[in-house]
Amino acid sequence: MSDYRKDLGKIIKDEKRIITDHIPNVYLSDKLGRKEGNATAVVLAKTTEEVSGIMKYAYENRIPVTPRGAGTNLVGSTVPDHGGIILDVSGMNRIEEFDEDTLSVTVQPGVLLKDVQSYVEERGLFYPPDPGEKESSIGGNISTNAGGMRAVKYGVTRDFVRALEVVTADGRVLTVGSKNVKDTTGLSLKNLFIGSEGTLVIVTKAVLRLVAKPETQVSVIIPYPDLRTGIESVLTLLRADLNPVAVEFMERKVVALGEEFSGVSYPRPDAGSYILLSFDGNRDAVDASVRKASDIAKETGAIDFVVLNDKEKSGEIWTVRGALVNAVEAVSEQEPLDIVVPIDRTADFVEYVNSLEEKTGVRLISFGHAGDGNVHLCVVRGDRDEKEWEEVLDRVLTELYSEVHKMGGLISGEHGLGLSKRKYFFNETDGNAVDLMNQLKEALDPRHILNDKKSYIR
Ligand SMILES: Cc1cc2nc3c(=O)[nH]c(=O)nc-3n(C[C@H](O)[C@H](O)[C@H](O)COP(=O)(O)OP(=O)(O)OC[C@H]3O[C@@H](n4cnc5c(N)ncnc54)[C@H](O)[C@@H]3O)c2cc1C
Repeated sequence: MSDYRKDLGKIIKDEKRIITDHIPNVYLSDKLGRKEGNATAVVLAKTTEEVSGIMKYAYENRIPVTPRGAGTNLVGSTVPDHGGIILDVSGMNRIEEFDEDTLSVTVQPGVLLKDVQSYVEERGLFYPPDPGEKESSIGGNISTNAGGMRAVKYGVTRDFVRALEVVTADGRVLTVGSKNVKDTTGLSLKNLFIGSEGTLVIVTKAVLRLVAKPETQVSVIIPYPDLRTGIESVLTLLRADLNPVAVEFMERKVVALGEEFSGVSYPRPDAGSYILLSFDGNRDAVDASVRKASDIAKETGAIDFVVLNDKEKSGEIWTVRGALVNAVEAVSEQEPLDIVVPIDRTADFVEYVNSLEEKTGVRLISFGHAGDGNVHLCVVRGDRDEKEWEEVLDRVLTELYSEVHKMGGLISGEHGLGLSKRKYFFNETDGNAVDLMNQLKEALDPRHILNDKKSYIR
């Protein structure tokens, strides 16, 4: 047995939880699986003490560490491209405390989002963050500040984290934040760690904020004659105090792909675009919102207004929305982007994307969260070979992100930067801001062992 394995074995007593030979490929990549790194060990941690022990060992020996949750990221952030240890915390998956009195739940980082959601809903409360991938882990959601469809009404993961237990790069264990609703005590380390993509600390426990479970939820689909009329109606809807949970837009050409893929039909195939809305809350408030939305739809030029009262039909319509990326991928490999622009620029942005498609001949498919300006854009590879694809993709992304910047938008609203977006982030971000981020990294991880040269790290 090598000294290395022996050393790790002193920290992790269970041999089966240390892999040093024939590391399965799944640990070496992200969900897309296109880029693979290499590692000398995978450690499957079960306790905070083990995480702390591994970090102390790695720090002393300057060994790179790649933290890993469920591995569903789409930006290469779990690719161990500097070798070293993959620290997998997916086995730390216990729900530790359900606290009805402070409306909170305390979980280990490997608990899956879907399990937290169903656990608290069975007990009459609700955890609103809802990224599309329900098999992602809470630790991963926190480390990427995951968003999702319900962000319009409820916000993103950051808005639902009360406290974190974390392990620092040199192995110290500390708690940041608390169960208190308000906090003006010093710097918010908690908020610094949320969204830091595993570059600053390992999250080993989280106290999540819960809200009352809504009594009911209703969705409506509003077909519009064209894209701009549809997207512009969203601003009127948002200003009208309807408080929708989700506001999604889809162009008809994109829906057609989803229909073909799933076999489900949307109403009014003569539409140019659709706005898909949902409302939750008590029955009377939801009914009132639906009525008001119907009036606004008429005023803003909708060609129909369909309330999805039938649970099965509603489920199907949302399934098509959720499967759009898969529908695109059934046709070709694609690069998934998650650009965000100020909400009043969404229509301009999608029109720009359509003009860029025409100019470059590269197929660009967009849809997304009209309520918060977060546009999911698939850059479709088609039959390009590797070399051509790399060149074309880089050209399209450079032009696209530059335009996003001019519109006041950002390169990522949900997925983070990881490896794949950092170059464009550096192009479009104030150098002083990047300097400060790197100074913080230096202060918290001076040996640069945690996810180095990823995200914002130069
Ligand atoms: C089909 C699909 C749909 C998706 N939809 C959405 C969406 O709607 N919104 C959205 O925001 N994202 C979405 N994603 C992206 C992805 O699911 C999220 O980024 C998710 O939060 C990643 O969680 P994970 O547990 O898989 O983390 P991983 O992929 O394992 O890791 C992600 C990052 O967090 C770090 N990390 C993981 N766990 C820890 C920890 N305990 N401590 C410190 N660092 C850690 C890793 O090092 C890495 O940098 C989607 C992905 C897929 C495949």
